[in-house]
Amino acid sequence: MLKDYGVGAQWYPPLNQPLCSYCRTNPARAIDHVEPRSGGGDLTDANTTPACTFCKSSKRDRVVPLNPPSNYRGQWPPPWWPANMQATVKIPRVIK
Ligand SMILES: [Zn+2]
Repeated sequence: MLKDYGVGAQWYPPLNQPLCSYCRTNPARAIDHVEPRSGGGDLTDANTTPACTFCKSSKRDRVVPLNPPSNYRGQWPPPWWPANMQATVKIPRVIK
């Protein structure tokens, strides 16, 4: 999954479901198309990833979510995003 972007997902045992690949804060509730369908993204495993409802709606037709969820803490963009995704965030910041 996400070979081209290298984001991946971490399992979240208490809820027995994966965490959101983008924020790694909230449990994933949906499958997101990394490269948006409107931008030519397809339904393959390489272009789909678990996402929380916040990141999915914040991302919309972008490659990354515009903002972090309110319970996110740390560096934004997250350090686990590949460089091409981090580069899309205009003003990097630390959420405290
Ligand atoms: Zn998220």
